[in-house]
Amino acid sequence: MRFFGMAAFAAAFAVAGPAMAAALPFNPEEATQAWLATMGPEATARSNSYFEGGYLLDFAGTAISIVVAGLMLILGWARGVRTWIEQKLKWFPLVAFGSSLFYILVSSVLTFPFSWYMGFVRQHEYNLSTQTFGEWFNEQLIGLGIGIVIGSIFLTVLYLIIRAARKTWWIWGSVVTVAFAAVMSMLYPVYIAPLFNTSTPMEQSELRDSIIALAQANGVPADNVYVYDRSRQTNSISANVSGFGPTTRISLADTLLERTSPEAVRAVMAHEIGHYVLKHNISGLIFSSILIVFSFAFVHFTFGWASKNERWGIRDISDPAGLPLVMVLLAVVGLITAPLQRNLIYFNEQQADMFGLNAAREPDGFAEASVLLSEYRKMEPSALEEWFFYDHPSGWNRVHNAMVWKAHEIAAGRLPNTPGGPPPGWVPDFVRDRGAATNAEPTQEPAATPPAASPATTTEQSPAAPSN
Ligand SMILES: [Zn+2]
Repeated sequence: MRFFGMAAFAAAFAVAGPAMAAALPFNPEEATQAWLATMGPEATARSNSYFEGGYLLDFAGTAISIVVAGLMLILGWARGVRTWIEQKLKWFPLVAFGSSLFYILVSSVLTFPFSWYMGFVRQHEYNLSTQTFGEWFNEQLIGLGIGIVIGSIFLTVLYLIIRAARKTWWIWGSVVTVAFAAVMSMLYPVYIAPLFNTSTPMEQSELRDSIIALAQANGVPADNVYVYDRSRQTNSISANVSGFGPTTRISLADTLLERTSPEAVRAVMAHEIGHYVLKHNISGLIFSSILIVFSFAFVHFTFGWASKNERWGIRDISDPAGLPLVMVLLAVVGLITAPLQRNLIYFNEQQADMFGLNAAREPDGFAEASVLLSEYRKMEPSALEEWFFYDHPSGWNRVHNAMVWKAHEIAAGRLPNTPGGPPPGWVPDFVRDRGAATNAEPTQEPAATPPAASPATTTEQSPAAPSN
């Protein structure tokens, strides 16, 4: 889509002639490169390595979850647990609940080494985490506790639907799943987020007033701005819209406030206000529901064929002994739906970016924040890479959008004429602060520093809570 947009732009440009280009006060391409160059080769390499490493790890995570679920089938655990509960309790909802609980618990335990590497070790390797192992582990336990209770209840309801409508469950199951997701998003900021982070009203300041004015000017009924202590998990910057319906709120991370200029904070908050105004939680839910129907239909129509192995002891799709197989099928179809889901999020993020630029009118602040996000997102991917792996526009895209916007606004006389590119001497804080440390240690610091922590990405990945 961006490709066609660019082609159309190029065509229009060719017709309009070079007069348009001459009118711009600076070259947006050069200004974009100047912003990206502030990172220097070392930070750029670190950013690329962190994000590109995630590509393979993403597939590894899927492979590991398939292996674990496969083991539970092959070793007869799923069948054994179902039979045991059936004999003891003789009531289907409890059989479904117990089998689900067993599956979630065992798979969480068996995949723990991977979670530990991803969430803790790797985050420390890249200087993103601020947690000790104890702090991180404690959060994992809380997350597991919530996941077991909510996940088991959800799967029990799903099995009751499957049992009641064996042929059409994938339709009714999708409806219930979407409703469940909406309710969970609504409860999230009130009951779940506080288990991981403390949210407090932002302190009185000029910046706070300007954010509230920005919100109110765009029809957001906000009289408060919330700051959450993201620094408890990570030093990377973020902001988000969380909740659903009456609980919807916009929050900014304390790290954003501490590390960036007021202009960058305003730019980021305008992006989040964009999510709110454009009702991205609703469109996100509608997009997701299409993928859920597709995924459940895939499970429904492949289950009979996939469950033929008699040693697994699966009676039919309504048998909770087949839950690991359902999970394997979902993981397989996820290989197709995950990039689609990322593209749907990307679509909304792109809109929020443009909304934010127009609302805050802080192109330099937006470029600044985009560079700081390189700590966990590669700046200059190939087009294919960005299409497949990105759920937010790349840093290059964001800075470029900001510079194009700025050049045109200056040319139109709606913005004071300031140069493109970063302010003289500006470098991202992670380059400035780490300069001394990296000189002292020529190599990366793997085991030398005590393991500390991982980012609590789990705390802000509700489907209706797009971040940054
Ligand atoms: Zn966003």
